[in-house]
Amino acid sequence: MRSVTLIAPAKINLYLEIIGSRPDGFHELAMVLQTISLSDRITINPIGIDAITIRSNDPSLPNDHSNLAYRAAALMVKQFPDMMARYGGIEIEINKRIPVAAGLAGGSSNAAAVLVGLDLIWDLGLTQDELQTLGAEIGSDVPFCISGGTALATGRGEVLSPLLNLDNLYVVLAKFRNIAISTPWAYQTYRQQFSSSYISEADDLKSRQQRVHSGPMVAAIMKRDGAKIGQLLHNDLEKVALPEYPQVADLRDAFIAQGVLGAMMSGSGPTVFALVESQAEADRVSDAVQNQIANQNLLLWTTKFVSTGIHLAES
Ligand code: ATP
Repeated sequence: MRSVTLIAPAKINLYLEIIGSRPDGFHELAMVLQTISLSDRITINPIGIDAITIRSNDPSLPNDHSNLAYRAAALMVKQFPDMMARYGGIEIEINKRIPVAAGLAGGSSNAAAVLVGLDLIWDLGLTQDELQTLGAEIGSDVPFCISGGTALATGRGEVLSPLLNLDNLYVVLAKFRNIAISTPWAYQTYRQQFSSSYISEADDLKSRQQRVHSGPMVAAIMKRDGAKIGQLLHNDLEKVALPEYPQVADLRDAFIAQGVLGAMMSGSGPTVFALVESQAEADRVSDAVQNQIANQNLLLWTTKFVSTGIHLAES
């Protein structure tokens, strides 16, 4: 078996609306997801024993079945039981650059890379649809991470409608090293506070569709209108996260004060992102916010929209 190295990019949410509860316990969502150039590198190496092992440059990451990359490999071994006998065991080497538990889907993207990588080195020839169906078993964001670009995601986030690919916008990401927000906490708190506004399962399809408000954002994307996209950024989870973590709200306000197209928390946070129109503007905004907040726990990255999901690294 040969080794393969894949690029596993992060995502941001341009739009996240919580529509209601689902019988499976997840939330019904309407999201617009966007791949950005900040990425991890995942290398899959052959090893001499019939096992799955994880090696990473981040000591805080689990190296057992609780690592999403491990779970993706275990799922592939379960689906294709002959492959390990034929090709031997697998070492997954994770070179992390995407901050962990940050609302940027780093773990989901790593899992997506393992699915794509094993399909390649085991020569399975799976279609993107087949890979995404497997990905949905691991996590709601995994199918999007496989295809990437710009997409409307509905259901629990796994039903994807590709939108026009945008690659003309730049993103400044910022995160406090000492603040972590648990995704289950964010959704559970939202449910406690806002479930009275959820659609009910008895609502017919028409009234359900009338309750989804992602249309203007989708239209702005189809027109490649960066200014409008910035104005229409929306994330329901800010309603629970920002009051609980005022530093995250201050960070978002600091970006807005710089005259960016728009700024918002990504996913369940705590990463905040700002949209701007050029690399030079991204660098200026990043420096200005760094100086204004003046906190040694603040980390910043400048990155940009990209139109590809998981892909092979250039050697
Ligand atoms: P999302 O935006 O999908 O909610 P996230 O960016 O908030 O994801 P991740 O970085 O994917 O969060 O990590 C969430 C949790 O998953 C962390 O507690 C982390 O320890 C665990 N985890 C498991 N595998 C990985 C992985 N390969 N990379 C990052 N985190 C992982």
